Amino acid sequence: MIISMKQHSSPDEVRAVCQRIEDFGYRIHTIEGAERVVIAAVGTGDTTACLESLQAMPQVEQAVRISAPYKFVSKEFRKEKTRIRVKDFEVGGDEFIMMAGPCSVESEKQIMESAVAVAKAGAKALRGGAFKPRTSPYDFQGMAEEGLKLLRKASQATGLAVVTEVMSEHDVPLVAEYADILQIGARNMQNFALLKSLGKAGRPIMLKRGLSSTIKELLMSAEYIVAHGNNDVMLCERGIRTFETITRNTCDIVAVPVLQELTLLPVVLDPSHATGKRSLVAALCRAGVAIGADALIVETHPCPEKAVSDGAQSLDLNQFAAMMKDLKPYLELWRQSRAELLATV
Ligand code: PEP
Ligand code: MN
Repeated sequence: MIISMKQHSSPDEVRAVCQRIEDFGYRIHTIEGAERVVIAAVGTGDTTACLESLQAMPQVEQAVRISAPYKFVSKEFRKEKTRIRVKDFEVGGDEFIMMAGPCSVESEKQIMESAVAVAKAGAKALRGGAFKPRTSPYDFQGMAEEGLKLLRKASQATGLAVVTEVMSEHDVPLVAEYADILQIGARNMQNFALLKSLGKAGRPIMLKRGLSSTIKELLMSAEYIVAHGNNDVMLCERGIRTFETITRNTCDIVAVPVLQELTLLPVVLDPSHATGKRSLVAALCRAGVAIGADALIVETHPCPEKAVSDGAQSLDLNQFAAMMKDLKPYLELWRQSRAELLATV
């Protein structure tokens, strides 16, 4: 439910309404605007009885049931787009953000070379998996904490933020020590114990869409994280499983504007996992910028043919630099349209 207080309600009046909502068993989050207070009530309870009771309170302007089950991440709850501060930049603001790096952290040389090159080409964040969710238990599982240390070293050398995957709630404190953004992989999008633990992670989250998940399910998973206390969630479209086999996944490109329409959370596109093919990555990057994503996350490798994971979809460092150059006119148009959008909010 969303409860909008009458203009200039007193703190006592707001408290009385909050108390009434809590008596019905809901948890509350208040937003204090310049002229009025808006209260979001979440949880389960007798919504009809609660709404009737609230509507009868004179200080309440409006009390409405929210049809979308994802309340915190829906546009009905807040007006401003979520801007997520990471180091010296924002995701969801007036700057397009590029994140790049290898699928897996493999060695100091590999991650350092990657970091230096992607930073030079204009990336703001370095990706690299230290904990890898592999389909086969016999495949490389990642360097774990050793990999996290290498990411930190590369970040210190270049100023890049670190985005890396956390696979289990037990590892959240460890990964949060080293990472600026915690990535939740497609296979873990509905690991609810993990999602709940992210509420207190103290780091922004990049939540990837599950292999066979609907947009609504993605939003419900984001809702878990926000409902448990962490507002800084970005959503990542990384392709879904369909009957198509030429590409590794099918990029649901329209998910980008759909998510922008339904939520205020920043939207990231991953053209590498969405296609599985290096030759398609640049085209999908252009599409992502043109369709209004807030950021891209791209796999790169100093020597893709030697990569321990996802080499076929990784750009080499020269290809990445060339792609960044080719993206410039698209990024200029993106900046113009984002400035217009921000001016109308
Ligand atoms: C990755 O980013 O390397 C990865 C494993 O992605 P996804 O979870 O989208 O498959
Ligand atoms: Mn990968």
